[in-house]
Amino acid sequence: MGDEKVKNDALQIIGMFQLLPRLVVFDLDYTIWPFYCQSRSKREMPSLYPQAKGILYALKEKGIDMAIASRSPTSDIANTFIDKLSLKPMFVAQEIFFTWTYKTDHFQRIHTRIGIPFNSMLFFDDEDKNIQSVSKMGVTSILVDNGVNLGALRQGLTEFSQNASRSEKNNQSWQKYSQNPNSSEKKEEIVYMSDS
Ligand SMILES: [Mg+2]
Repeated sequence: MGDEKVKNDALQIIGMFQLLPRLVVFDLDYTIWPFYCQSRSKREMPSLYPQAKGILYALKEKGIDMAIASRSPTSDIANTFIDKLSLKPMFVAQEIFFTWTYKTDHFQRIHTRIGIPFNSMLFFDDEDKNIQSVSKMGVTSILVDNGVNLGALRQGLTEFSQNASRSEKNNQSWQKYSQNPNSSEKKEEIVYMSDS
């Protein structure tokens, strides 16, 4: 499947959803490209997973911001590869540094830098520990098996819109309750403590 075909398929998938993330964050190694960049030389010409480019271009065309969160210990190689692949203009933030935490620092920095709330973000990564810790921050996080592809995109957007509509419902019922607590269908019992 060529890049253009993947991009069109991705556009079609994105078009099926009303609630979309404001930011999509990608890991690098084994998520957008099939290797650890620490084991490669800067002189090489890297290649992406076959559907990665089409997906990035489709998100860009839809006006959805994108960022990188990578724990690679060789950020110089990662940056060189991103340059060589002409991907730098695609990303509003690139956090590439090694930590012992599982990307919570990366997401905190991305959030501080661009101000998008965690629950408006969608994240793709191939490591379960990153997925677990970042999803606890409220980010919809998708474990990829064989790099980012159309299936992962569809799954990500599906889970994102489920999470978003769930939190919207919670918000609405909370607003309803706080505006008029007595008439709420979700009556809460008030227990009066006797002080005697
Ligand atoms: Mg990875």
